[in-house]
Amino acid sequence: MEKYSPYLLEKIKDKVPASGIYLLVLHLTRDSRLLMGRRGLINFPQGYYLYVGRAKKNLLSRLKHHLVQPTKPHWHIDYFRAKAQLKGIWLTNQTLAEDLPTAECTLAEKLRSYSATHLPQLTKLGSSDCGCPGHFIYWGKNYRKISSFLSRANYLRRIDDGLLF
Ligand SMILES: [Zn+2]
Repeated sequence: MEKYSPYLLEKIKDKVPASGIYLLVLHLTRDSRLLMGRRGLINFPQGYYLYVGRAKKNLLSRLKHHLVQPTKPHWHIDYFRAKAQLKGIWLTNQTLAEDLPTAECTLAEKLRSYSATHLPQLTKLGSSDCGCPGHFIYWGKNYRKISSFLSRANYLRRIDDGLLF
């Protein structure tokens, strides 16, 4: 059973900014070999992954896009999402469109510095239009550890149960 539904997001549509940086927590329930577009087949270990994305406009529609497992994958995240469960959605406090590209990479970098395991296969995934090492971060198998870490980050807000915290 997926945790998020378009209905629950619709309930907070007035609170979601038009543009911004978002963070998805995704779960692969088993070791998987996934086709990642032009990058070909990539092996991913079981566990939780963080993905940092940015929407210059229509942030709400972008979040809705991630709620459904895509039939026509476009970005790396779509290929990954097709096999992973969406466990969490977080937004950052930034809304200034001009600062977004840097803020996106900065957040990815910050999260990467806290993750214990670095998977070489994640390099450049989700970051084809910027110079940074990637917007996918592997966070191991402990969900409680991720959620308590993210909850303590004062620059992040959690979307849950039809509410934005
Ligand atoms: Zn980047």
